[in-house]
Amino acid sequence: MSWLGKKAEKADETTTVSQPLIAALNSLNRESIVLDSSGLVLFESSKIALLNLVKENKIQSEELLALVRVVRRTGKTQEGSIEVARGPIGEGKRDLQITAALIDNEGSVLVIIDDEGEKQRIDAIRRDFITNISHELKTPIQALSLNSDALLEVKDEPEKVVLFANKIKTQTTRLNDLVKEIINLSKIQDSDPLDMAHEVEISDVISEAVDQCEVLAEARNIWVKFDGLQNGVVLGNREQLVMAVHNLVENAINYSAEGTNVVISSKLDGEIIEILVKDQGLGIAEENLDRIFERFYRVDPARSRATGGTGLGLSIVKHVITNHGGEVKVWSSVGVGSTFAIRLPIAKESTNK
Ligand code: ADP
Repeated sequence: MSWLGKKAEKADETTTVSQPLIAALNSLNRESIVLDSSGLVLFESSKIALLNLVKENKIQSEELLALVRVVRRTGKTQEGSIEVARGPIGEGKRDLQITAALIDNEGSVLVIIDDEGEKQRIDAIRRDFITNISHELKTPIQALSLNSDALLEVKDEPEKVVLFANKIKTQTTRLNDLVKEIINLSKIQDSDPLDMAHEVEISDVISEAVDQCEVLAEARNIWVKFDGLQNGVVLGNREQLVMAVHNLVENAINYSAEGTNVVISSKLDGEIIEILVKDQGLGIAEENLDRIFERFYRVDPARSRATGGTGLGLSIVKHVITNHGGEVKVWSSVGVGSTFAIRLPIAKESTNK
């Protein structure tokens, strides 16, 4: 029996995928592609568009094409794993398990795609993350324990009681900030934004992120200004994108002197939208620039603690943006200021300018 049908189309004969095969593939909990003997994609399941595997009915991944060639040459089903870029820019990668098999005598191939490799990658990140967290939580917990012992010892000296109670209060707030940030990061690590992608307007993301920082900016006497906002639609998770922009704006405010400006702009550059957050703050020395995106890394731990920092903000930004197929860039000069850029591939230009 042939799974493929022939559809007469004017003078040409176009091969199509039969309805029973389409129904069978759609009922699988996996993504799939059917290729004809010339390599033309005849069918792709609903989420293939998000995997960056097919463009203009052709397979883009060299690794997958090689696997398909082996199937045709040997006639045997092949299994393997391939790595695909999440977007046209950035380091974001996705590991996919592939099974490819011939489905007729003419060289048509069925490709079934599984995200198993991706799950293993996430498990490895999670294990590493848990080791980091345990270490970071130890310090404030130890401090709390020491201060509560001290509090018990001075219980008859009211002034000292107030001193230690205040220390305990500060440390509890810190622990609370840390736990909140850890929950944010673990939520992001557990969900792939492209699995449940929505169309997100970048102008909405920017305005929500800036609104969230309004109180902080006022308290620190910093003026957050816009300088040209172009809009674009990105496929992904709105809440995560707002969190990423929010973290950049919050840092720009926290690491700047009172009375300075933070300037936010966005511009379209072909199929990429760039969001820039520029401050006139402390700046970051060249030797620290590479490390600031690491989890729990802070250039000046005391300053970071004073502003309620946890060292997780930029790692969240990087994780979110890389998972959306984009990249984060930074330019900085000590004493002059820093500019952070989020660059994301757009799904389309927005009609809401
Ligand atoms: P934190 O919670 O400490 O702010 P982040 O991961 O957001 O953690 O940032 C890591 C470190 O990078 C910060 O502790 C700070 O030293 C530095 N940093 C981040 N943004 C800026 C900025 N806009 N200007 C100067 N330094 C910054």
